[in-house]
Amino acid sequence: MNLIFLGPPGAGKGTQARHVAERHRLVALSTGDMLRAAVAEGSEIGKQVRSIMESGGLVPDEIVASLISEELKRARGDSAVEGVLLDGFPRNLKQAKMLEEILAEQDESIDMVLELGLEDDALLRRIESRIAENPSERREDDTPEVLRRRIKVYHDETRPLSDYYRERGLLRQIDGSAPIEEVARSIEAALANIGDIGGKRKAG
Ligand code: ADP
Repeated sequence: MNLIFLGPPGAGKGTQARHVAERHRLVALSTGDMLRAAVAEGSEIGKQVRSIMESGGLVPDEIVASLISEELKRARGDSAVEGVLLDGFPRNLKQAKMLEEILAEQDESIDMVLELGLEDDALLRRIESRIAENPSERREDDTPEVLRRRIKVYHDETRPLSDYYRERGLLRQIDGSAPIEEVARSIEAALANIGDIGGKRKAG
């Protein structure tokens, strides 16, 4: 089972992704986490992407696609793993096409795209309280100004993916403003219907 989590920054994708991955033996892959690790390591990629991330822009498609491609290969090599859950990738149409190619090479496809929806002002309120509650865990891109930029990038670049996946019969929309447990239940309810939707399914 291969899933994509779509949604604006701060919608709670990461939290839900970890739970879903555990319950369904999926590997949760977050390009944001991979890129932050590269920055922390000070690797060549980290140096290239640092300032872009701090300003809230998107790093080049080729960089994230190659990170994802490597991690997907690694995940397929683990027989205990039933699939992957992508969080933060794809973020634009170019990346969506790249992902399809990468998956096709592995004889795989996307089973469902879950979009966690949340209004912009709710996102800003969430991030402001996150900063107030955990000042030590504050990320470089956790400022209201950078968040506004990230939200704009989301509307301009990522939002068109909803239509893209809706047209393919893969999109399920979830209200991300509900409490964490309720969002988790809605996600499980959507996943229970996965056999009914479009997309190539492997036997068994
Ligand atoms: P959030 O979900 O809070 O928006 P992420 O952790 O997914 O944040 O991403 C943080 C930053 O990493 C993004 O603002 C962007 O600069 C970069 N990034 C993550 N994933 C991608 C991607 N698929 N394409 C381009 N840039 C990305």
